[in-house]
Amino acid sequence: MATLVLADHDLGQLSPATARIVAAAAQLGAPVDVLVAGAGVDAVASCAAAIEGVAKVRVAQSQALATLSPEALTTLLLTLAPQYDAIVAGSAAVGRDAMPRLAAKLDLMPVTDIVAVHGPGRFDRPIYAGNAIETVASSQAKNVLTIRAAAFRPAGQGGPAPIEAIDASDVSALARFVAAHRTESDVPDLATAQIVVGGGVSVGSAEGFKLIEKLAHQLGAAVGATRAAVDAGYAPNDWQVGQTGKIIAPDLYIAIGISGALQHLAGIQGAKKIIAINTDPEAPLVKIADVALIGDLFTIVPALIADLEKQ
Ligand code: FAD
Repeated sequence: MATLVLADHDLGQLSPATARIVAAAAQLGAPVDVLVAGAGVDAVASCAAAIEGVAKVRVAQSQALATLSPEALTTLLLTLAPQYDAIVAGSAAVGRDAMPRLAAKLDLMPVTDIVAVHGPGRFDRPIYAGNAIETVASSQAKNVLTIRAAAFRPAGQGGPAPIEAIDASDVSALARFVAAHRTESDVPDLATAQIVVGGGVSVGSAEGFKLIEKLAHQLGAAVGATRAAVDAGYAPNDWQVGQTGKIIAPDLYIAIGISGALQHLAGIQGAKKIIAINTDPEAPLVKIADVALIGDLFTIVPALIADLEKQ
């Protein structure tokens, strides 16, 4: 028996999250196969085959799978499920949509948002908005799991693993894809970025956020925001970090004018180092930061940018 990982991909590119999910799945102790489902995904399959620790890549291509609808994916995964002890996906949109549906069809309890794997049936996952971590033991014969990719180091380069086509001609779905509305951006993906620069509501305006973006650009970092900043219209919704936003685990998080509300902290617990810039030395984020710069962000951030420009 083995573990099946559902590859995360978009616009013909394998997401960096897949190497992290493979690394997590390898800790289950069984050979790891990767399933690449979609249409026109040959290049994605080749990238998946080059991930260290992948035993085999299975490619299912059909028009019904092109948009990775949970309905179509579940039909496909149900045909493959008897061959696997565990079926694993990322905790992003596709996995969150498809895995509970798959688990229900298999009459299993899914284990979601896993941040550590202690063996084939023992996992850590956050509860109470990330304020506590629970360890769960699953005694089910088969596990359906979602993984918080940011919590795991990515598997390296390996392979190439063999690639095998599987018949997906029977896969169909009643739901019809209408349209996707995408945000165009050339900054790194928040969920997998090594450096994230985050801004809070005290940045004061969408114009003020350009300062945060400028610093991020100089550092090759992704841009994050608090919900208060998003609600105020200073930053787009997909920059929100926290309990109801994205979960990040960068090597460095620079939090600018962010108080550190519990709901925000729930999204940054995987950050390895934190620098806080804040006028308030008592702010919760300042207290947990590795380095705190106490002062006005409108003085400190331009000074940082000027310093970086000199280098
Ligand atoms: P504030 O809490 O107002 O903090 C502003 C900070 O800026 C303060 O620390 C202040 O000292 C500092 N400051 C002010 N002026 C300056 C200056 N000139 N220079 C430097 N520092 C300055 N929040 C999230 O972020 N993500 C979530 O996912 C999220 N989910 C939520 C879910 C629920 C159900 C609820 C109820 C709330 C959620 N929130 C979330 C909101 C959260 O509770 C906070 O309100 C929010 O995080 C605060 O954002 P902030 O730090 O930008 O603002």
